Amino acid sequence: MADQTDNLLYEGKAKRVFTTDDAKVLLHTYKDDATAFNAKKRGSWEGKGKTNATMSAALFSYLEANGVPTHFIEQVDDTTIKTKYLTMLPVEIVVRNLATGSIKRMLDFEEGRKFKAPIVELCYKDDSLDDPLVNWYHLRELGVSDEDLEFCEELGLKVNSVLAPFFDERGIILVDFKIEVGKDESGQAMLADEISPDTCRFWDKETNEKLDKDRFRNDMGGVEDAYAEMLRRVTAS
Ligand code: UDP
Repeated sequence: MADQTDNLLYEGKAKRVFTTDDAKVLLHTYKDDATAFNAKKRGSWEGKGKTNATMSAALFSYLEANGVPTHFIEQVDDTTIKTKYLTMLPVEIVVRNLATGSIKRMLDFEEGRKFKAPIVELCYKDDSLDDPLVNWYHLRELGVSDEDLEFCEELGLKVNSVLAPFFDERGIILVDFKIEVGKDESGQAMLADEISPDTCRFWDKETNEKLDKDRFRNDMGGVEDAYAEMLRRVTAS
């Protein structure tokens, strides 16, 4: 848990990040608060912080065991994880297996259309611009190297190839997700941020029930139960 010796580095919509007495280590404490539509909508429900911290911890560990470098060090308590201190790339990587959300609107795809192959998108991380979908040319102009862009796309596909079967075994379709990348002091790039129902879309394989933040975004009700159910499925042995 963060204490008085830890300093608040950043407070976001759903988490606080603290520096520690080790300059290479951060603490991320997940809150029960939620926002959607670039903070135009706000809410809160019990257990959200615990689900996001615990699910991120479990999935980062699983990804590490499957050859994916991540910032994760350990889970400290129900809502806090310890990570490496990274310098973040200004890129959000979205990977999609089925159509919903913004791609459905952009290309007039039918809800749930199953893609022939996973689709990788790169967005420029800037809330004031609503994280626009961009390509390599834009990101080069914004200072991101080709080597880092290649890493981002390959990482997105690798994370998908590890996590889609993981969730399938637990009765869940991994519809789409967003990840972020950072670099440590030696320049080593790795997976960062979080993997949770805030950043992924999860549909029950049998019923197609949505078990993620779309329940909050679209006022569907049952969001607290959905997060608890996802935590149960991920941590069940
Ligand atoms: N996503 C996210 N943060 C964002 C935008 C999207 O974590 O700022 C996730 C979202 O939860 C979904 C995926 O990225 O799993 C694709 O989202 P999409 O572009 O469809 O966004 P929408 O505008 O529909 O939320």
